[in-house]
Order: sequence, then C-alpha cells, then structure tokens
Amino acid sequence: MQIHAIQTGLVRTKAAQIEGRGRGLLRQLAIFTDQNWTEWLPIYAWVIDHPEGVIVVDTGQGSYLLEMGKSLHPYMRWEAAFKIEREQEIGPQLRGLGITARDVKKVVLTHLHVDHDGGLAHFPSSKIFVARGELQVSKGFMGRVRGYLPNRWPSWFDPAPLDFAAEPFGPFAMSRRLTEAGDVLAIATPGHTADHVSVVVRDGDTIFFLAGDTSYNEQLMLAGRVDGISPDEHISIATLHNIKRLAERYPTVYLPTHDPNSGARLASRRLAGKFAGGEGSPIVRATKLTLAT
Ligand SMILES: [Zn+2]
Repeated sequence: MQIHAIQTGLVRTKAAQIEGRGRGLLRQLAIFTDQNWTEWLPIYAWVIDHPEGVIVVDTGQGSYLLEMGKSLHPYMRWEAAFKIEREQEIGPQLRGLGITARDVKKVVLTHLHVDHDGGLAHFPSSKIFVARGELQVSKGFMGRVRGYLPNRWPSWFDPAPLDFAAEPFGPFAMSRRLTEAGDVLAIATPGHTADHVSVVVRDGDTIFFLAGDTSYNEQLMLAGRVDGISPDEHISIATLHNIKRLAERYPTVYLPTHDPNSGARLASRRLAGKFAGGEGSPIVRATKLTLAT
C-alpha cells in the first residue's frame, strides 16, 4: 500500500477563515471584514494505492474555479482566490502516476466544498461516498446560498451515503470500513462542516490521518483553534481534541488538505503531537497499536 499526495493548485482566503476570531456568528462574519489574506495554500487530494483497488480521498479543485471572480456569491467572489492549470487537476496527475479512472474503485469526499469536489468529473466509474447530511446541505438552491456549487457536479453524480457503524477508532465513537482488510476507515470528524469526515489509513503501527479541513494546519489542531467556517465551536473543539488524543496515544501522521507541510510530512512520515520526535524515536518503536477495527 502506498499513499500519494496530489496537489491540485493553490487557494488563498482571509486569515480569519484559517484561525477564527471572536465567537459565534461574529467569528463567521469576521471572514468578510478581515483585510488580511493568507499566503497561497496547497489543495491536496490523496490517493491510496491499495491491494483491493485505488481509493481517492477528495478530488481537489477544478480549473473552472478561476471564473469565480464573476460569481454572484459574495464568498466566492470576494473571500477566496484560486490558482490552477488544467493539467494540475487530479485526472491528469493520476494518469502521470500510471493510474486510470477505472483503477479508482472508491472516492471519499471529506465534505463538498468546491476545493474538494472540483475534480469529480474525472471519476465517472468510481463508487463515490459522501456523508448523508453533507449531501443534504449542499444540494439545490439552498446549497448554492451556502456557498456550495452543486450546479458544477457531473450530471451522473449520485453518491452513496457514508453511514457509520458503532465501531470505535481510538477516541472516535463511529467508523466505517472502506476495505475488507479494515486498514482504511472513514471516521466522523464534525466541525468545519456539520458532517465532515476524515479517512484514516493504518500502515503497520502508523496512522495516516487524511484530515480534510478539520484544521488548516497541524499547529492549529494541536492548539485546538477553531476556524472561521465551522458552524459550531464546541463540536469543532471536541473533534480537534479527539485528533490530538489519537496522536498522543498512537503514532499519527496528520495531513490536512491545506497545510503547506502535508506533502513533506507524508513523504517523511513525520508524526504529530508527542511523537513529533520522528519515526525512529524509541517511544514510537515501543508503541503497539491496539485500536479496534
Ligand atoms: Zn478546503
């Protein structure tokens, strides 16, 4: 099994989106009044080359987002900027790895924001999984009001609902197996959106945590800082706390979509939290993974 990082261009947003300011509605509105832009951040998608078939986690952005300067939606028009070339979309990059659309058995979307579902058109023959609640809030006219782009979904887009079983994974109460072997699982990580999911891959003793937008980078997760988007601060804090607890107990490589260090962290298997000493640290070698699967 191998995990590939695919960077589908760049995005930048207001600083108040990455790290929330204030509380409640004011925190969410701060994105619109903040004058400070972040640096350009990566948009990663992940490819799990698994013996049971390739699993893709998120599909990155599509080059159509470059037209968003004309969007009627105030967020899309004023509060985010995108950079991508056509050949940086996930389809061409997969072909570069020798993987065709037919090899991709499953696609899991952490949520349906435009920088995660923008490459859907490249997966016409894959089984696509989305959390039931996430699909509900993103479709139709109300979905567009909320800043989703359901009008850009391929006409064949009809995802399977990602229902969870009461099978704990570390501090997370619910999970859903994505492989027969039980080494790739989806877990509910509500926060950035109410039904946000993450995917965990167990490779020996190491957990690769494909985090989506649970936080914009590793420091914010370790500090338990809520972003400017999350609808409920308490739920976000609980999820961030659970990720940190997982990383304190088990060797975990934490890989948020927009963390500039995620690609390098995957390549070097650099661990989060108390295991940050690295792969070779004695603590890591001594730790036996005893998670339920
Ligand atoms: Zn995102």
